[in-house]
Amino acid sequence: MSGRLGEILLRESRISLQQLQLALEHQRSHGGKLGEALVNLGFLTHEHVTEALAAQYGIPSVKLSEFPVDPAVVKLIPMEMATKHHVLPLVRTGSSLTLAISDPSNVFALDDVKFLTGLHIEPVLASETEIDQAIKNHYGTAEDVARKKEIDELVSFLDEGTAESVELDEDEEGTLNLADLERAAEEAPVIRLVNYILMDAVKRGASDIHLEPYEKDYRVRYRIDGLLQSVMNPPLKLRDAIISRIKIMARLDIAEKRLPQDGRIMLKLMHQGKRKQLDLRVSVLPTLHGEKIVMRLLDKENLRLDMTKLGFEPESLEKFQKAIFKPYGMVLVTGPTGSGKTNTLYSSIAQLNKEDTNIMTAEDPVEFQLPGINQVQMKEQIGLNFAAALRSFLRQDPNIILVGEIRDFETAEIAIKAALTGHLVLSTLHTNDAPSTISRLMNMGIEPFLVATSVHLICAQRLVRRICSDCKIPDPASPQVLIDAGFTPEEARTAMPYKGKGCNTCGGRGYKGRVGLYEVMEITDEIRDLILVGASALELKRKAIEQGMITLRRSGLIKVKSGMTTLEEVIRETVL
Ligand SMILES: [Zn+2]
Repeated sequence: MSGRLGEILLRESRISLQQLQLALEHQRSHGGKLGEALVNLGFLTHEHVTEALAAQYGIPSVKLSEFPVDPAVVKLIPMEMATKHHVLPLVRTGSSLTLAISDPSNVFALDDVKFLTGLHIEPVLASETEIDQAIKNHYGTAEDVARKKEIDELVSFLDEGTAESVELDEDEEGTLNLADLERAAEEAPVIRLVNYILMDAVKRGASDIHLEPYEKDYRVRYRIDGLLQSVMNPPLKLRDAIISRIKIMARLDIAEKRLPQDGRIMLKLMHQGKRKQLDLRVSVLPTLHGEKIVMRLLDKENLRLDMTKLGFEPESLEKFQKAIFKPYGMVLVTGPTGSGKTNTLYSSIAQLNKEDTNIMTAEDPVEFQLPGINQVQMKEQIGLNFAAALRSFLRQDPNIILVGEIRDFETAEIAIKAALTGHLVLSTLHTNDAPSTISRLMNMGIEPFLVATSVHLICAQRLVRRICSDCKIPDPASPQVLIDAGFTPEEARTAMPYKGKGCNTCGGRGYKGRVGLYEVMEITDEIRDLILVGASALELKRKAIEQGMITLRRSGLIKVKSGMTTLEEVIRETVL
């Protein structure tokens, strides 16, 4: 066979006769296949060998990295078999299975897969390195595999031991048998599974856990660094037991299945040898196929109170700190949900927290408890909203007031009044950038002169993912691409973007952690004049840039240049 491979390569002038002889010698002394010898000696690439082999065996070759692989089909054979034979199942059509294989002469591989799947095998050729890489990608890392095994064992134990008792039925009137629900939720394996889900989320640094019932399956997803990813699919029949267990932990009503519920779980656990307390905010919402649960992990250690580490450019940070250390005026932090506004506000407060200062906060919800701060949880049901809390705060002799969010005229009006009467007011608004915040306040009904005199600074922000420092590599882009993204022509000539190649540290994603982008707009005398004459957000933006404001996009580009994040992240999160 190998003689024929040599012939094909010679005939197509891929190699010289001398190279073939050297490779055959190499093969004799080192063993292995002729193709490998040719690659090892540097005469050919893996791709060339694959093409030649495809010609030799008369089967097609594929480029796996460009081939859409069906995850359900991959699971037809276990990872051990795929690794041993260097094969990967690609597509199933009726009773035949397309199988990527690196050595079509390996009849054992073809037999094993055929025996296991009972399908007719259609081999296609791919290089061994490509297949091994694809196996890693599709079956996950060793850690993932071990994790999956652990879950499978847990679930199979549940299946065998307690399947009957976790099957929950409604009685004839459609009411639930409470005793059954409680018993099911107290079954040790259910407890272990739920604990496992919580622990695993902590270990992986997730910010949220989603448990979602669908018509035919049940899905658990984690949000890690801002993106959701599927982590497991427990059997659908465990749905009710899992939900009940979490409801019990969160002290919610396990019999109530028609209305949304909110609760909280406090957990003490050991993580990396340290005792730590974890706070979970639990939300239960009835969906079409059962109750969906979302748990937000409030981990104090993830809260970064050191303002210099959040990602502010030095000149922006200086302006921001100057504003929060003034004894009065309003400082607004804006951005969409999940852009890190709370973190910025908490770190501001942590800096201002002194014995001689009375700090009051109105929050919905109180996410983290900070010592020495008077934090008040809003309760809409009893009329304790932001406006009502603010009004009471003014009678509590405050120096600094934090209002969770300004979303209506009433709150805005009292906040401005507080800022104009000798208090520092910190708050957030849902706006896209710093300049448009001014028009948002006016649209709520606030007079321009009140906005102009009370607001001292506006900080818009976003979070982007940080490139994993363990697998960071240069990722060159053409000067035109860089210029289109907002770099100046001079910068585009020298800037070198980076990306993460993917490694064990970052779970193959190339990113680990996040960093903020900040646009800090000071209300200078010129800007104040513009506000008073009713200038548009665009005019305000131009003036602010002229006065040195770093925009969100610019803040991102600076971090692309320093290799902190990728161009894609910045383009996705900001506008030019
Ligand atoms: Zn990495």
